[in-house]
Amino acid sequence: MEETVNRPCPEVRGTGEKYWVSGRNGTLSIPQCDTCGKTHWYPRSYCPHCDAKTLKWIACSGKGVIHTFTVARQSGHKYFKTKVPYVIAMVTLAEGPLMMTNIVDCDVEAVRIGAPVSVIFEDITDSISVPLFKLDTESVL
Ligand SMILES: [Zn+2]
Repeated sequence: MEETVNRPCPEVRGTGEKYWVSGRNGTLSIPQCDTCGKTHWYPRSYCPHCDAKTLKWIACSGKGVIHTFTVARQSGHKYFKTKVPYVIAMVTLAEGPLMMTNIVDCDVEAVRIGAPVSVIFEDITDSISVPLFKLDTESVL
């Protein structure tokens, strides 16, 4: 009998908790600085642009563009080994920051720098949903 291998689960506490749980309602949330107004990813307890500690969470549009990517064709991890080949990408969110993610539900050979993408979520526990992206196929012609 084959062992079921689950996606590794992020540690949900502190600054990143809102990020990991916001996907459950279909929203990608990122921090925005109350002082300078800039957004950032990954979540931190201070603004990486001006060091202010007054942050709020904003709901993103879920839209972005592939900044760069690579295709993983092998993995030493027992979960990711079942997913090869898969795309690891840096996506420029419409709200500004770069975000590391996976591009899923597509032929890895169809992925291109500059391609528009939309967020989807993979529910991995009762409260945590991992944000992933898919190609906006209607605009990839
Ligand atoms: Zn700031």
